[in-house]
Amino acid sequence: MNFGTPPIPSYSKLLSDIEAGNVKNLVLIPKRRQVEVEFLDGSAALIPIFYNDQKILRAAEGSSTPLSVKDVRGEEALASFAGAIGLGLVFIIGITFLIKRSVKIANKTLGFGKSQARIKPIEELQVRFEDVAGVAEAAEELIEIVSFLKKPDKLIKLGAKTPKGILLVGPPGTGKTLLAKAIAGEAEVPFFSIAASEFVELFVGVGASRVRDLFAKAKQKSPCIIFIDEIDAVGRQRGAGIGGGNDEREQTLNQLLTEMDGFAENSGVILLAATNRADVLDSALTRPGRFDREIYVSLPDRKGRKDILAVHARSRPIAKEVSLKDVALKTAGFSGADLENLLNESAIFTARDSVNEITNKHIDQALERLTMGMAKKALNDSTQKRLIAYHEVGHALVAALSPMADKIDKITILPRINGVAGYTSFKPDSDVVDSGLITKGYLYSKIVVALGGRAAETLVFGPEEITQGAESDLQIVSNLAKEMITKFGFSELGYVALESEENKVFLGRNLLQRKSGYSESTTSQIDYEIRKIAKEAMNEAMQKLKSKRDELDELADLLVDRETLNAEEFLRLANIEKQAL
Ligand code: ADP
Ligand code: ZN
Ligand code: MG
Repeated sequence: MNFGTPPIPSYSKLLSDIEAGNVKNLVLIPKRRQVEVEFLDGSAALIPIFYNDQKILRAAEGSSTPLSVKDVRGEEALASFAGAIGLGLVFIIGITFLIKRSVKIANKTLGFGKSQARIKPIEELQVRFEDVAGVAEAAEELIEIVSFLKKPDKLIKLGAKTPKGILLVGPPGTGKTLLAKAIAGEAEVPFFSIAASEFVELFVGVGASRVRDLFAKAKQKSPCIIFIDEIDAVGRQRGAGIGGGNDEREQTLNQLLTEMDGFAENSGVILLAATNRADVLDSALTRPGRFDREIYVSLPDRKGRKDILAVHARSRPIAKEVSLKDVALKTAGFSGADLENLLNESAIFTARDSVNEITNKHIDQALERLTMGMAKKALNDSTQKRLIAYHEVGHALVAALSPMADKIDKITILPRINGVAGYTSFKPDSDVVDSGLITKGYLYSKIVVALGGRAAETLVFGPEEITQGAESDLQIVSNLAKEMITKFGFSELGYVALESEENKVFLGRNLLQRKSGYSESTTSQIDYEIRKIAKEAMNEAMQKLKSKRDELDELADLLVDRETLNAEEFLRLANIEKQAL
C-alpha cells in the first residue's frame, strides 16, 4: 500500500527534458512507481512516477531525439498473469487452436467481415447527462465535446480543434459506458457502439476488416461518435500476449491505428473509448493525434454517492424514512454500479416482506449481503480510514506550513485501482519548474513534507502503531537526501559532486546493489548524512504538526467524512491564510 505521495522531484522538468530530447534512456518501473532516467549528458536520476506514467510514455513518443524506453511493466504483468492462470493457459491455447482451424471454412461461406457495431436510432438513446451523477469533472469535459458535435462549423471557424480520440479511464462500474451513452443522447448524432471484444470475438481474421468497415460507415454518417468499449481487449501492449503475441488482436489494433491516422482532424467523427486498464494499453494508442485526451472517471465521493443514489431512487419506491445521505455515508468505496445494485437488492428484500416501499431495514439487509463479499474493497473499516486520513493531512499540513514547499492541490482518501489508499497532490510552482534551479531549501522542504504522513501517524497513534503506508514516502526521502549529498553538495560532506561523470551509476541500481564507486568510508559517511537529514526533517515535521494539533484532528475528521478536500477548504480549516510561497 502506498498512501501518501508527496511532490515529485523535478517531474515536470523530466517531461520537458524528454520532449526537448535531453533524455537518452528511460526505464519505467511502475511496480516501484519509479522511472530511471539517463540524460544525454550522462547524468542519471531516479524519479518517482505517480499516476502519470502514461504521460511519460507520451512525452517519449514526442521526443525530438530517439530515445530508448524500457517498460518493465509488461514483463511483470505477463509473469504474474501466466503464474496466476497456470493450467488455464493451456486450456485457452487449446481452444484458440480449434477455432483457428474451423474459421477457415466459416470465413469462406459467410460475410463475417462486416462490422457488428450497432447504430442506435436517435429515439432509442434516452440516457442524458442528468442520469449520470457524481462525475462532475468528467462530465464537464464531455459537454464541451458534445457542443462541438452539435455546432461543428461554428467551432471550427473559431479555430477550435476537436479532439480525435477521448479515453475514459476508471475503475469498473463508475459509469464510463453510461457516460458514453449520455453523450450520444445529448449530442443527437449517430452513435456507433461496439465492445472491443466483438472485433475479435468468434472467428479469426475478421477483426481488422470489422474495424475498416466500422470507420467507413462512420465517415458516411459524420458528424457522429464511434464508441469502443473496453478497448483493452484489443488495445493491449503489442507483443505482450500469451506465447509471444496474439496475431489476430495485433492486426486489429494495427488497423485501428491506421484508421485513426486516416481520418482528418475536423472530420466530425469523434472516437470515444473506455477502459479500466489504461495501464496495459499500447502506448501507440495514446500518442498525440490518437487517444490524446484522457478523462478520469473516479469512484464517487460521499456527495457523489448520494447523487447517484438519488438518480436510481427516481424509479424506485423508497420510504420517506430513508436518508440517502446516510446511505452514502455507509457506502464508501462503492461504485455507481454497486450503488444501483444495492437498491436492486433492497427491492428484493422488500418484495420478500410483501411490502411496497424500500425501508432502512431493507437497505441494511442488502448492504450486509453486498459488503460481505467485498469487505476488502469497501474502505468501511473506520480505523483504517482514520489512519489514512491522518497520514494525508499530515503531508498537507506540513506542506502548508513550509514556505518553500509546493502548493497543495487536493487531498483524498478515496481508494484507487492501483492500490493507492490515499494521496495528496501538489501544484509545483511553475516559476520553480521553469527556472530549472532547485534550491537546497526546496529539496529539504520536500523531504519534510514526505515525512509529514509518518509524523502524523506517530503523533496521533503512537510509535508502535505506525504503518508501512509510508514506504514510498521513505524511499523518496532517501533518494532526495542522497541527491542533495552526492550531487549538489548540499550537506556537511562538503562541496563535492560524488555523482560524477566517471561514476555515473543509476541511482536506483546503486541503491539496490550497494555497488558504488565510493570508498567504503565515503559510503558510510553518505549513509550517516542521509540519516541525519531524515532525522532533522522528521523533527521539523513533528514540530509543525504539534503546532497545529487541533487543526490536524479537525481536518482528519473532516477528511474521513468527506473523503476529498481541495486546497482552499483545507487552508481555511487549517487557519492558514494563504500558503506562502
Ligand atoms: P463502467 O462502464 O464504468 O464499468 P457502467 O457505465 O457500465 O460502468 O455502469 C453500470 C451501471 O451502473 C450503469 O448502467 C448505471 O446504472 C450505474 N452507474 C454507474 N455509474 C453511475 C453514475 N455515475 N451515475 C449513475 N449511475 C451509475
Ligand atoms: Zn504518505
Ligand atoms: Mg463499461
